[in-house]
Amino acid sequence: MHSLDQFAQGKLDDLQRRHLRRQLTETVREDGIWVERDGRRLLSFSCNDYLNLTQHPAIKQAAQAAIEKYGAGSGASRLVTGNHPLYAELEALLARIKQTEAACVFGSGYLANAGIIPVLIGREGLVLVDALSHACIFAGTQLSRGKVMTFRHNDIDHLRSLLAEHRDAHEHVLIVTDGVFSMDGDLAPLAELNALAGEYDSWLMSDDAHGLGVVGGGRGTSFTGNTQIPIPLQMGTLSKAVGAYGGYLCASSAVIDLIHNRARTLIYSTGLPPSCVAASIAALDLIEREPTYAALPVQKAKAFTRRAKLPEAQSPIVPVIIGAEEATLAASQMLADEGYLAAAIRPPSVPAGSARLRLTFTAQHPDEAIARLADIVRDKILVN
Ligand SMILES: *Cc1c(COP(=O)(O)O)cnc(C)c1O
Repeated sequence: MHSLDQFAQGKLDDLQRRHLRRQLTETVREDGIWVERDGRRLLSFSCNDYLNLTQHPAIKQAAQAAIEKYGAGSGASRLVTGNHPLYAELEALLARIKQTEAACVFGSGYLANAGIIPVLIGREGLVLVDALSHACIFAGTQLSRGKVMTFRHNDIDHLRSLLAEHRDAHEHVLIVTDGVFSMDGDLAPLAELNALAGEYDSWLMSDDAHGLGVVGGGRGTSFTGNTQIPIPLQMGTLSKAVGAYGGYLCASSAVIDLIHNRARTLIYSTGLPPSCVAASIAALDLIEREPTYAALPVQKAKAFTRRAKLPEAQSPIVPVIIGAEEATLAASQMLADEGYLAAAIRPPSVPAGSARLRLTFTAQHPDEAIARLADIVRDKILVN
C-alpha cells in the first residue's frame, strides 16, 4: 500500500476504534423540516435553518431572479470585480440591524473568523477565547500567530484574572466568544464581557452565528428589546437563520476599511454568487419585519425543555448530553427509528466525555412532534 493511503487508513482505523469516525450521509432536505435519508422520511432536529427560510418562496425567488439577471457566480474576489452592487445593499442592512457604522460580508462565517482575527492581532498580540467557542474562531487565532489563551466557559472571573496577569505584556488584546454557544445553546454574558474588555482596554468580538434571526427580537444576542450592548466587533453568519450562505462583520467604518485592506480570506477568495447575496437581503428584510416569527424557534425549544425536564432553553439549540460516544450513536439511531433526525455530536466538536444529541428547533416544527420527542428523550434516553 502507498504510504499515503497507509497513513490515511491508520488514522481511520483509530477513529473507528474510538467510535469517532464520521461519515457523510446523503440527505435530501425536502422542505423546512423534513429530510430523506436511506429512503426514509425523518423530521429533522439537526438543521440550523431556524426560520425555515432556505425554503421560503419569496427568498428563493429573490435568489432565482439574481441568477437570471446576473449569472451563477461572481467571477472574482470582491477586491477585483466580484463586488456586485447587491453587496452594498446587504451591508447597509446588516449595519442598520446591528446599529454599527459599517459591515463587511465574507464568503462564509468560517472565512470571516479566519480573516478578521489576524487583521487585528499579530505576533505581539494576545487573544483570549472562551473555551467552548466555535472551531473557526480557534482557526483564526492560530492564523494570527499571537499568543492564545482560553478562559473557562462563561467564567468572567477567570477572564478577569487572565487580563490582570497578561494584559500589560501585550500591545493589543482581543477577547472572542460565541454569543450563542453552538453546541450548548447557552448565551455569553456579553454585557459583563464588554464592560471587562473596556476596563482593560481590550477589544471584544462576539460570534453571533446562532443569534442573528432568533434572539434579541431577531437582531441577535447583543440586543435586549431596543437597547444594545455596544460590542465593537460583531461577527456572524448568513448561513443559519438567514438561510443562505456567507459571513459578516459589523463594526466601525475604520475597522471595516482596514478589513477591506488586510483580511486575506476576503481579498484572496471569490465573492459570493449574487443569488446568495440577494437571498440574504430578502431574508433579513423578513426578519426585520416579523419579530414574532423570529421568536418562534426559542419558544419551541423552551416548550421542549419544559416537557423533557431539562434546564430551560435560552436559544433554539438544546443539548441532550449523554457522555459516551457509543451510547450517543445508539440514541441517535433509536430516534431515527422513531422518525426523528437528531445527529450525534462527538469530540472534537465537543469536549471528551460530553458526546450529545444536539437538537435544534425551528419556527415550523409542529408542537405535537416536539411533545412526543420530549417524551422519548425524557423516558428512554435521559433515564439511562
Ligand atoms: C456555523 C458557525 C460558524 C461558521 O459559519 P459558516 O457560515 O457555516 O461558515 C461560525 N461560528 C459559529 C459559532 C458557528 O456556529
